Amino acid sequence: MKQLLLLLVTLSFFGSYAQQLDVVDFREIRANLYISPENKTVEGGLQVKFQMLKDADSVYLDAVNMGRVSLDEDYENMRVEADKDKFWLIGQFKKAREYEIFFTYRAKPKQTLYFSGDQIWTQGQGKYTSHWLPSIDDMNDKIEFDLSFLVESDKRVVTNGALKSLTVREDESLVVWNFNMDQPMSSYLVALVLGNFSKKTIQSESGIPIELYFKPEDSLKAEPTYRYTQEIFDFLEAEIGLPYPWQNYKQVPVRDFLYAGMENTTATIFSEAFVVDSIGFNDRNYVNVNAHELAHHWFGNLVTETSGTHHWLQEGFATYYAHLAEKEIFGEDYFYWVMYQSAEQLKELSDQGKGESLLDPKASSLTFYEKGAWALHVLSEKIGDEAFRKAIRSYLQKHKFKNVSTEDFLSEVRSSTTVDISEWEQDWLQQTAFKEMQAYNSLSESEFMDQYFQVSTLRTGQLSEKKDLLEEAIANGNDFIGQEAVYQLAGENPFVSHDLYEKALDSDNLYIRQAVAISMEGVTERLKPKFERLLNDASYVTIEAALFSLWNSFPGDRARYLDQTESVVGFQDKNVRQLWLALAIITPDYRMENKSEFVQELREYTGASYSFEIRQKAFEYLAELQLYNDAVIDNLVNASVHHNWRFRNGARNMLEQLSEDTEVKMSLKDRLEQYSENEKQYLISKILIE
Ligand SMILES: [Zn+2]
Repeated sequence: MKQLLLLLVTLSFFGSYAQQLDVVDFREIRANLYISPENKTVEGGLQVKFQMLKDADSVYLDAVNMGRVSLDEDYENMRVEADKDKFWLIGQFKKAREYEIFFTYRAKPKQTLYFSGDQIWTQGQGKYTSHWLPSIDDMNDKIEFDLSFLVESDKRVVTNGALKSLTVREDESLVVWNFNMDQPMSSYLVALVLGNFSKKTIQSESGIPIELYFKPEDSLKAEPTYRYTQEIFDFLEAEIGLPYPWQNYKQVPVRDFLYAGMENTTATIFSEAFVVDSIGFNDRNYVNVNAHELAHHWFGNLVTETSGTHHWLQEGFATYYAHLAEKEIFGEDYFYWVMYQSAEQLKELSDQGKGESLLDPKASSLTFYEKGAWALHVLSEKIGDEAFRKAIRSYLQKHKFKNVSTEDFLSEVRSSTTVDISEWEQDWLQQTAFKEMQAYNSLSESEFMDQYFQVSTLRTGQLSEKKDLLEEAIANGNDFIGQEAVYQLAGENPFVSHDLYEKALDSDNLYIRQAVAISMEGVTERLKPKFERLLNDASYVTIEAALFSLWNSFPGDRARYLDQTESVVGFQDKNVRQLWLALAIITPDYRMENKSEFVQELREYTGASYSFEIRQKAFEYLAELQLYNDAVIDNLVNASVHHNWRFRNGARNMLEQLSEDTEVKMSLKDRLEQYSENEKQYLISKILIE
């Protein structure tokens, strides 16, 4: 999984699970399911194959709040009983025998299966699949899942494995999508997406079909969103040295997703925020997440951690291989820059005394992801690429479709090299502190990083003394070195910084110009013409920042700037459009006849028919402009019970603040009966308390 914020590692409750693992091996789960969007329920049949490792009179499947509907009578004296988080399979089970059982069930999941707009999607990691599909929470029992879904004919199904058949029902309103997996996996990797999608299929060099999904209205964004997908796939197969181990690969963006992406086997789900056009690609693209989730198909899906102690074997590896893929695409300087950024964050954590061991199951995502990547980078430099690749290959080969611990990886490393790695183990696996000297020594091998460090050490110097060096850095044309030089101009005397800003604005490099847009405080008359050109730059970050700066600096030209940018929407969260509306609303005398439409549009963006990224921005602008009305407050109440906790928490904070106003509070009280049960419960328990 690639998360934007804290990862809570799920600890396995080893006591009870270890017992069941010793008793039974679940082999196959076939499910035929119908999901009702109206009732938000799942129902259908489950056929389960398992082999006994010991004699026993009961085994269980994890199944949270599910009811058994029926049991086929033919199953020789077996019974199925439901309790609050399990289905118990009861019978006289004999060691070494294989059993098969069929029963139907019904569930109304409170989490894991989400209904968002006209999409339905799941998020199974840590151990949540059992909220909608009876399965095994313990990652150590790998199962072959073959799933079928009965679906309205206008929807597409994305799930694990290869589509075996599509059967249209007699009345043509429903279709059965029948999928097959060839190999077993841990239950948290089961996934389902239902929605209205278009699809483009490409093929890897090795012949694996790669299906790229997108909403029909986003057809022009499909190319930039999925840019470099085949390069990433071919690169990872070659670099890892073991062929992609699954039948096919699919990627699908969904609305209101909880994380950046999730590596469900053969069916990666990612956040719609990464759906971009060619301009958006320059600022915010899917390349890193694309590579990260694909890398998990070896590191995590093929070989899976035995417990949270070894979580870095998944996240550290996926992060490192994603960095390598980016190096292949964007070049070596980019690779070193990304490693430098993570080293700075790790150093800060470590300097605060909060450094974490990679083997701490409660470590933060920064440790699992980035310290894990650093550990692998340093290891590969220490033992050499050849030995590193050999170790990776034999580690995957030996443990494929099984579970692994850190020791399993280390023993392959030790047998692939004569170099002693015990100090590395101490420094990078055991130590809580970040080994910054080792990291910076590695970084300074790069000529680019060396040049960058020379410029960044000028930060505290007088502008008059470093002017020539900064000018050279801007002329150098490197993204990061040029940006660093521009950032050092902020707050300096404009008479001295002017020339340099002018050079930066004349630069061929989009990112150097962008640095001016986002860091220059107040645009001067002299720079105005060059700064105005930024409104046409191929970057939504630049356009948003430049529009605001120009609007702020030149009140007489506001109408002209607004007219010029009226048709720009920006990223998926409509960043430019929403800023535009806010500015158009508060600009005196601008389009008086349309003002109320502008307010209306901004208010509409807070509604549940938009993604949480759009809604969040709209709530913020409306709060700033004090343009909340009852409809917006209703949308805020709705947002305060949203499944995305970051969005939900933001909405709750805003609602709490607003309701300090007694009038708002009274009006919420008056409308209480019109809210949903969830919303009402939240209002009563947190907002309307006396
Ligand atoms: Zn991940």
